[in-house]
Amino acid sequence: MHSRLPIAVAPARDETAVSYVTRLADLHGLSFGELWQQVSRPRTPASPARFIAADLLAAVTGIPEQRLTRAVIEIRRPEPDWLAYRHEPQNGCPRCTARHPGGPVRQLLPHHRYVCVRHRIWIGPPDVIDQPYPTLDELPEIVAAQRAHLRLLHRLGPAATYDAVLTGFLICGHRWDQPAHEPEYAQLDWDDRAVQLIPHDTAETSFSTSRLFAATYPEAVKLAALIGSLHWRRLAASGPGGQQRFAKEIGRRLGQSDYQPKVAKDPIAHWIDDDCWRPPSLPRTTYRTQRGFGGQSAPKAHQHSLDRHARSARWFARNRLGGRGILYHRHVGSVLARDWSRRMDLFIGTVAASAEATTYSDSNTPAVSVDDTSEPRIADYMRPTAVQSDYLATAVNPAPWPSRDAPPERGGRPLLGRERKIFRTAAGC
Ligand SMILES: [Zn+2]
Repeated sequence: MHSRLPIAVAPARDETAVSYVTRLADLHGLSFGELWQQVSRPRTPASPARFIAADLLAAVTGIPEQRLTRAVIEIRRPEPDWLAYRHEPQNGCPRCTARHPGGPVRQLLPHHRYVCVRHRIWIGPPDVIDQPYPTLDELPEIVAAQRAHLRLLHRLGPAATYDAVLTGFLICGHRWDQPAHEPEYAQLDWDDRAVQLIPHDTAETSFSTSRLFAATYPEAVKLAALIGSLHWRRLAASGPGGQQRFAKEIGRRLGQSDYQPKVAKDPIAHWIDDDCWRPPSLPRTTYRTQRGFGGQSAPKAHQHSLDRHARSARWFARNRLGGRGILYHRHVGSVLARDWSRRMDLFIGTVAASAEATTYSDSNTPAVSVDDTSEPRIADYMRPTAVQSDYLATAVNPAPWPSRDAPPERGGRPLLGRERKIFRTAAGC
């Protein structure tokens, strides 16, 4: 028998079942397990695992089932477009969720949600450590970028926007750690914003990779408008003239007016070479396909994720370069190692390969040439002819999510303890 709970508390939009039941249990002085037993049932009679049940949740809370299935993410009807959502829940905007009592509200947010525009608070992407979300009162350009991002979503649809913004982050991540070319270069803005978000001498406590993403978000969205546009993709995939027009425009958006694609250490050239003429990349996984979906166990952070977080914090505290933290974070995983990317044994190889253009560099041009000043110089990248692409020939906006035949491979294994030591010595860090 189910007894109705005396305190009527509604779920927040896109709240997870575990979050909602945890709040209800806390408010009523019940144990989570006791309440979960009442609002769930085995998916099959023989199954020991219990799954959230909308009708039982309605009976126990007194809230109509129809209303619950508009809010609680696992029982949403109709089912959401899972590909358009992140695969892991996170705390919601603290001010938006303040009216929901009983503890923090965990929500599954869509890929396009980085800022609560109403409260000017940075909320995404989720990180291993739940840092308080920073306010953006001093960084209005980050709030403006979220608005631009939503306009992009409206124009291009979720698939192309997802791919384009993550590719934007990937490009910013690579370029942050490279030497600046001109005074107006975007790197300086990233450094300034990072000072606001992770002040000097506080990195131990205030560091989160999510905040590094915040520092580059305005430029990531500016680049995304180009990366996601079929017009610009077609120019990037065309012959030398089109590639030059594309290079000029992307350089302008990064504050580097003399930008010229290079065959190495250049994620833009890599994208022109291997990605611009293919369909958008899919997320590696979705919340719906996670093991235990609809059950009571919330995923825990792996030890290696916590270790990586600690390493990123130390690295950033030492040299204030945010690129590596961005590139090594799982948030960009789906565009770092795309379904068609070359497979590398080690993850650091995957990161390096995402900034190399290989198709036309091996046979036609040396990777490094020596000019008059005897300074080694990385060769320019230029594809001699247009790519023949069935995708670009027929693509229209909004692009649908492509389908995937097999689960994606990983981007290579992380360095082991001894290898990491050797790598650190070689990198001088
Ligand atoms: Zn809010």
